[in-house]
Amino acid sequence: MKYCSTRGKVSGLSFTETIMMGLADDGGLLLPEQIPTLSKDELQQLAKLPYPELAFNIISKFATDIPAADLRKIIERSYASFNHPDVTPVVHQDDLFILELFHGPTLAFKDVALQFLGNLFEYVLAKQDRHMNIIGATSGDTGSAAIYGVRGKDKINIFILHPQGKVSPVQEMQMTTVLDKNVFNIAVTGTFDDAQAIVKDIFGDLDFKQNFALGAVNSINWARVLAQVVYYFYAWFQVQAKTSATEMDVAVPTGNFGDIFAGYVAKAMGVPIKRLILATNSNNILSRFINHGDYSKATVHHSLSPSMDIQVASNFERYLFYLYDGQADKVCAAMDRFKETGAISVNEEQRKQVTEIFAAASIDDEETVATIREFKAKTGYTLDPHTAVGVAVGRQLRSPDSPLLCLATAHPAKFGDTVEQATGETPALPEAFADLERRERRVEVLEAKVEVIKNYISQKAG
Ligand SMILES: *Cc1c(COP(=O)(O)O)cnc(C)c1O
Repeated sequence: MKYCSTRGKVSGLSFTETIMMGLADDGGLLLPEQIPTLSKDELQQLAKLPYPELAFNIISKFATDIPAADLRKIIERSYASFNHPDVTPVVHQDDLFILELFHGPTLAFKDVALQFLGNLFEYVLAKQDRHMNIIGATSGDTGSAAIYGVRGKDKINIFILHPQGKVSPVQEMQMTTVLDKNVFNIAVTGTFDDAQAIVKDIFGDLDFKQNFALGAVNSINWARVLAQVVYYFYAWFQVQAKTSATEMDVAVPTGNFGDIFAGYVAKAMGVPIKRLILATNSNNILSRFINHGDYSKATVHHSLSPSMDIQVASNFERYLFYLYDGQADKVCAAMDRFKETGAISVNEEQRKQVTEIFAAASIDDEETVATIREFKAKTGYTLDPHTAVGVAVGRQLRSPDSPLLCLATAHPAKFGDTVEQATGETPALPEAFADLERRERRVEVLEAKVEVIKNYISQKAG
């Protein structure tokens, strides 16, 4: 399997080269040259496999340059850190199914991909005898998942910037209580946008990038999307076993279009997904695109589902590439237009193609809280605010006669204040984090200035 860029100037890469490159050198995103498809029989043969074995079957179709025995070990190790035997269990509540993606070490779905990516990096770096300095900015969940993915690993340092005082207390403690010597938490005195701009700036300095062997862990990395494709297969097999359905709708709370793009790939491979229901909070650029063909940037609103407070969905470019039938010149033109005007629009024909696969709506904070409250009252089950956005939109837009699967992207205790506001009860953290508040912390507070951050990295980088 070879990989190419959405912008057409990088091609013929192996899987290993693809995950090490992160963002394509031409500024585009990397994609497999074709998406492998499974027949109904082939699909059925995977139905009873345990999660790691299923993951091996799917991922090995894409990671063709990693020996099977090595890949199997990497995958087994990645999911052994989850605290549920099914890794991503499906539960039936009220009139829908919930895919619980929060049983990993940091209690959000990002663990599913970042545990895998951390082990993959470790494997490739050992093989090539290289080291890497990972740099990333986080509004909360990616930072801790990435830190847990690489903590204590040889040949990798990780520098995570978060906006001081602007992530949830649990998120902050999850990051700063990791004391391994390869982990560097930086609280910048600014906003998430400041932190992200600094990281972008640093990656843009190609000399610095090369000198310090910088690596990326955000969802532009193909390995993250790939690892997430697996749970759409797994969930379908669970729903199929519990119903006699031949297809299902899936509701996905979305910010960066990463998780839902993994659903798009799963559907293209043969998982019988009728509709992908895209759910946004008041940062609704993606639902505006699906409903009106209008992809235009607005200012970021702070919502009760903060991990989806995003206006520029970086993975969207991957979908555009398919919508334009793989014509890289059209992707380049659209991205140039977006850079200049902050907007992309598509014609009626293309929009029809979009709505055959996707449906979308957005939910404000009030409805988010109401959904958590009602769902708890009716079923006793506690939704986190991101999951609640997906449940509310899923119920609005589901097909009348297909089962609905809602992706639960975070454990409710990660956003305890909002859950308490909705239900009057603070959800308890799982046992592994019961003593979180008493743990020792380490964090460096730095000014939100590129030079200050670069200086710090130069001193600490291995
Ligand atoms: C990151 C995140 C999302 C958004 O996922 P995307 O892949 O960016 O669409 C949703 N919910 C939670 C809890 C997250 O951490």
